[in-house]
Amino acid sequence: MTYRMRARTTGALRRLVIVGMALGPAGVAFGPAAARPAAAQAVGPEWAIAVHGGAGTARRESMTPELEHRYTAALTAALEVGREILASGGSSLDAVEAALRLLEDSPLFNAGKGAVFTHDGRNELDASIMDGASLAAGAVAELRHVKNPISLARRVMEASPHVMMAGVGAEEFALEQGIELVPATYFFTERRWQSLQRAREAEGRAEAERGAGAEPRDRAQRRAGVEPVGALGERLGTVGAVALDRHGNLAAGTTTGGMTNKRFGRIGDSPIIGAGTYADNRACAVSGTGHGEFFIRNAVAHDICARVLYLEESINEAADAVVMGVLVEQGGDGGVIALGPDGVIAMPFNTPSMLRGYVTSEEGPVVEIFRE
Ligand code: ASP
Repeated sequence: MTYRMRARTTGALRRLVIVGMALGPAGVAFGPAAARPAAAQAVGPEWAIAVHGGAGTARRESMTPELEHRYTAALTAALEVGREILASGGSSLDAVEAALRLLEDSPLFNAGKGAVFTHDGRNELDASIMDGASLAAGAVAELRHVKNPISLARRVMEASPHVMMAGVGAEEFALEQGIELVPATYFFTERRWQSLQRAREAEGRAEAERGAGAEPRDRAQRRAGVEPVGALGERLGTVGAVALDRHGNLAAGTTTGGMTNKRFGRIGDSPIIGAGTYADNRACAVSGTGHGEFFIRNAVAHDICARVLYLEESINEAADAVVMGVLVEQGGDGGVIALGPDGVIAMPFNTPSMLRGYVTSEEGPVVEIFRE
């Protein structure tokens, strides 16, 4: 597979297009950017959008062709919605929001309609969005009745003086803003309900083992490098998008139901600006997916942008350093989509699969699920 990458010299409009770069598994570029062959051309994508549908343990052999087709079709549809907006001169924020609304409405993903269940059998949704031009950001958490959390996050950003709202207060704001609310039953899907049952059973077994003085199963599994049910195995499906518009503005957004069997009002990285989502026109736009606690501790999305800005790393180097370096060292599973102001897209992940795709003014849509 070949991949196209643009780099823009600081402050200048002149662009270098690096064509035919060899990609490793997971769409991660091999080696330092400086070592890559570069063919100088003065053109590059005018706009670009990338989306993810979550990182997880799914392997090709464990996924039916039918399900693979449904995931691919859904991501392609989200990219097409983004393409339409960006190609006609629309904003990156509009493209991110529209693409994510579409995925929130699909029962396939762990966001909106298909959100996973909490320990108590509820759905609690989190989302965030960020504007790379102004660093304005909006985030919402613990929503139970908002059909499209990404749109409420945008409203927080644009119609309130705040960055983050949670729970009942956030839903009051949604009501005030005319955002669509739905009964909690709207979020019920049999598949996610069964996931919760499996997670609770596994938890029950672990507690019984703990009671018997044995090492808890999840800790033993973790030490053996195996993820317990209820963690990675049930996490596939968070969605995110990053976009660059014709005006050179970046935006990023992420939306999720969090982790199956979460309790005590647990909130992951997806609605945390700097952890699951970040955008800064000077550096990059990032949306992450994976074990949220690790993304929060490492401020993953911001760290990638900071590496680009301060260390002058390429998008690929910065995203790799964090996802394949820092996170792997700590045992934090997941991946990111990252997009530079000049159209560079990096999509590294350290899990067996990550639903991901992109389309630019020059190529795509391309959608991939597995490592190879
Ligand atoms: N990062 C999300 C969370 O921890 C879950 C995911 O991306 O799969 O809530």
